[in-house]
Amino acid sequence: MATSKIAQHHHCRSCGKAFVGDDAFCSAECGDTNQAVIKRKKKQLLFLYAISFIVLIVAILFMGL
Ligand SMILES: [Zn+2]
Repeated sequence: MATSKIAQHHHCRSCGKAFVGDDAFCSAECGDTNQAVIKRKKKQLLFLYAISFIVLIVAILFMGL
């Protein structure tokens, strides 16, 4: 059946290419690329949190003075 065939394909989480299989990525390279992107995003998020925290501390210190 054509409908079940369409339902069973996945889109690669890295490049968005449609492929058949149980993996989240169409190839190992795409998986590696995605991991690198996730790591970079996590770093950026952590940096953002750190900045927000510093700003908050400074704001509290200024309000306390
Ligand atoms: Zn891919």
